[in-house]
Order: sequence, then C-alpha cells, then structure tokens
Amino acid sequence: MSGFRAPRGTQDILPEEQPLWHYVRKKAEEICCNYGYGRIDTPVFEATGLFTRGVGQETDIVEKEMYTFNDRSGGSFTLRPEGTAPVCRAYIEHGMNSLPQPVRLYYLAPAFRYERPQAGRMRQHHQFGFEVIGDGSALVDAEVIRLAWRFFELLGLSRLSIVLNSIGCRQCRPVYLEKLKSFYEKNTDKLCPDCRVRLEKNPLRLLDCKQDKCQPLAMEAPGSVKHLCPDCLSHFELLEKYLAIAGIDYQISHRLVRGLDYYTRTVFEVLPEDKGSQSTLGGGGRYDGLIQEIGGRPAPAMGFAAGIERIILNLNRQGISVPALPRPDVLLAYTDGETRDEALAVSEGLGSSGIGSVLGREGSSLKSQLRQANNLGMKLAVIIGSDELREGRAVVRDLQKGTQETVSRKDLGLVLTASLNI
Ligand SMILES: [Zn+2]
Ligand SMILES: [Zn+2]
Repeated sequence: MSGFRAPRGTQDILPEEQPLWHYVRKKAEEICCNYGYGRIDTPVFEATGLFTRGVGQETDIVEKEMYTFNDRSGGSFTLRPEGTAPVCRAYIEHGMNSLPQPVRLYYLAPAFRYERPQAGRMRQHHQFGFEVIGDGSALVDAEVIRLAWRFFELLGLSRLSIVLNSIGCRQCRPVYLEKLKSFYEKNTDKLCPDCRVRLEKNPLRLLDCKQDKCQPLAMEAPGSVKHLCPDCLSHFELLEKYLAIAGIDYQISHRLVRGLDYYTRTVFEVLPEDKGSQSTLGGGGRYDGLIQEIGGRPAPAMGFAAGIERIILNLNRQGISVPALPRPDVLLAYTDGETRDEALAVSEGLGSSGIGSVLGREGSSLKSQLRQANNLGMKLAVIIGSDELREGRAVVRDLQKGTQETVSRKDLGLVLTASLNI
C-alpha cells in the first residue's frame, strides 16, 4: 500500500458526499441568477502583491496563512486565500467600470489558508461568494445581506441569526480607533500577549480576540456605531430601514469587526444557533477602498462569502436531506462472449435514447451480475442469453417486484422508457 495521504487540512470529496455539494452549489447558482448576478471564475493563484495590498499586511491571512511560492520565472504567486481581491482585480483588468453599474458577480471556488485544521476549517476549503461593485448606496448593503439570508433559507437551514456592525470610514474610524486605544491602554495588564501587539498594529482586532482573558474588556469597550461620522451614520440608518422593510432581523454587535483590512462601514456575519468561535456560516461587508488600493479607479463595493464545508456541516447537524443525484437504473447482463458484445451494442443504443445503463462485470456469472444490479440499487436488469440473442429478444426483469417479461430487442427502448417513467 502506498504511504501517500491527502495533505493535512485537505480532503477527498467522495461520490457519496457529492449530493450535498451538488445541492449547495445548485442553490447558490439558482439564487444568484434570480438576483441578477453573473458567475466569474478567476485563477487559483494570483500575484502575491494582490493579497498583501488588497487583504492587508497586518491580517492573519497575509502574516501567517498564505500558500506562497515562486515559479520558475522567479515571480511570487499565492494560492487564493479569499475570493474578493481576485474578483476586484478582474473587475479592473476587464474594464468593468465602463459597464452599467453596479456589476454583480458571484463565484464558487477553492481557497487556501495554512490554518490549524478543525471541523469546518480546512487548509483547502471551498467558498461561495458574491460581490456588488460600483454602487455605494445602503440599498446594495441591504441586497447583499438579503441575498445571503435568503440563500441559507433556500438551503433549508433554520435557527440562524445575523450580526451587524458599522466600522466607519477613513474620516471617522481614526477618531474611533483613538477612543478604543485609550480605553485599552488603561487596561494593558488585562490583555493576552497577542492583543498587546494588536493594540499597536491593528486595535480593531482587539474586539474579536477569542481568548477568555480578553472577553470582559471587549464587552466594555466603546462601540464604533456610537462614533460614526454623519455620512456613515445616515448610511447605517438607511441600511437598518431597508432591512426592516425586507423583514430581516439582526443584532448589532460592536465586537464584529471581521479579520480583513479592507472593510469600511457595514460588516455582518450569519451565525448558527450553537455559536462557537469557529461557527460563523459566512460573512461580508463593504469595502469601498479596495479597488483603488489594488490600482483601479475608486469604486465602492460590498460582498459576502461562505465556506461550503461549514454549510454542509450545518446541513448535516440540522438533519436536512438532499435529493440523490441521477444514476442509471438498468444493468445489462449477459452469459458469454457473443451476448456480451450484443449487450455492449444495446447499451450504446439505449444511451442514445437517453437511458443510462451499466454492463455486468466481465467474466462473472448471470447470478452474480444480478446481485451486482441489486447492490447498485438498479430498478431493472436486461438479460441477453444465447436464446435471446438468436431470437432478437431480451428479458427485462423488474428487480424490485421480481417479475420479468421477454420483449423484442427493437422495442427495448420503449419498454424501458415506460417501466422507468422517463
Ligand atoms: Zn465615516
Ligand atoms: Zn486577546
């Protein structure tokens, strides 16, 4: 046996798990089409600078989680750690700012982060995300939150909640950060070592520290919503009004700041009932400065992303069953070399009329071929023995009822279509 295994933090998605994956992807595509979003696929790797500039030097992703490599030309590339920066790069590269604004895009793509693997957190995971670029109005913020919420509803998930916050803009955030810093500076002895570093480098991240030691302070810390400039405040109030009209409930949490530097104003997350530190189903926010930061003409934008592994974890936890994938219902059984050749030809003929079939295993007895059909959950077996071959017939056996009939091979397609209700 080979000693190779899938790398730590990655997994094979086997055929029996695919119905769940198919279900989630299909619902994602369905709802995105309904809301007017177009799919975009970007490369799995990008120039490293896109993420150091776009996601931010001081973030966990850029500091410790990226899969970065040099290719043979010496260029530095990074496997996509998140989906937003690549979509923005494509928006700029393809001149999408000359299209009618806003541009609505969605993606389904793997993402790579060197993290400590745990349930629902993989080094290679898969994201569903969408972005609205070129419109700064609060109506767009509401649209993204609505779409995220309706997506989880469409999947059948229940007992979820939305947390919402506004972290302000370039004008009001520095003022707020000063307030936050002076609050924490009085209490440095009560902070974990990481947070003492954050206090200098990225004080906003003090609020979402997961260490027990830092919880009481974060609860007491001043909230950004109370320190918004008039524009950010009216944006936030409009968003609250639109969400009320849409009938979407949420809670405001001053501790929600999201881990990426590019967010401005609105940030939100969708959480399941059993909240744990890793339990967020998905999150997003507004990132009005990102397009300019990576070299485009300024364009406001708002987006959301969710991990498919975590969605599947929650579908399983909530016992949601999903439809099976289509599969063939017919096994073609035969008894010797000549009948095998005929079965092969019949299988091709059935295939061209849209009836899928599987051939019995070469060299196995009729009995074991029928057992194989049962094991595969087939509805029908078509048996061609030497008598049937000579007479232009075939035996059609209903494997569930245990009944069988002999039919002319030229009528086989019609008989099977009728029996299978195709
Ligand atoms: Zn502001
Ligand atoms: Zn801390």
